[in-house]
Amino acid sequence: MTQRRPRLGVMGGTFDPVHHGHLVAASEVAARFDLDEVVFVPTGHPTFKQDQSVTEAEHRYLMTVIATASNPRFTVSRVDVERPGLTYTVDTLRDLKSARPDADLYFITGADAIEQILTWKDAEELFAMAHFVAVTRPGHTLSVEGLPPDRVSILEVPALAISSTDVRARARAGQPVWYLVPDGVVQYIAKHRLYRGQS
Ligand code: ATP
Ligand code: MG
Repeated sequence: MTQRRPRLGVMGGTFDPVHHGHLVAASEVAARFDLDEVVFVPTGHPTFKQDQSVTEAEHRYLMTVIATASNPRFTVSRVDVERPGLTYTVDTLRDLKSARPDADLYFITGADAIEQILTWKDAEELFAMAHFVAVTRPGHTLSVEGLPPDRVSILEVPALAISSTDVRARARAGQPVWYLVPDGVVQYIAKHRLYRGQS
């Protein structure tokens, strides 16, 4: 009997902080594509956020570990946190491929990112290394013009209007972030006084 190759989902993000939108998206894609594992990869220095102050990578990494700890199929990788310089998805995928040469990669990304993907570093190589799954909200139309149809799938996930930007703004304003992020992340934010007095 031939065994099928393991399927590894890759959920890249700044995760500043990780929230239930990320977790639902990863869970939906895992179910739909029969993934064996989803690895969350917090960015080191995000390319698209150079003009913003981003929380220390170690905090973002630890919040992602806390948020995913209860799911046996979710793991967290330090490849981007530990690579010096800006984070490019092509480097993330190269590192994961060399660590897991036996696996097929499924890169999970939000609708906002997939529309930009052709502008990413080494776009052609990206599609050679992974299947891309763009998650959208129901009713949102997504432009995937110019992307290779056999390497990109679109999946609607339940409407989740949660963003890290909103969570940070709430924490800064002293508003509750319960139920937008996992309980342990609420507590981690309070313990380390994250998102206080920062834009
Ligand atoms: P920020 O508001 O700081 O940009 P974010 O909420 O968009 O944060 P990121 O860490 O930038 O979170 O996103 C990581 C990945 O998760 C991206 O591919 C993004 O498109 C996707 N994503 C973000 N929010 C959601 C959501 N509510 N549902 C599904 N996917 C999401
Ligand atoms: Mg974002």
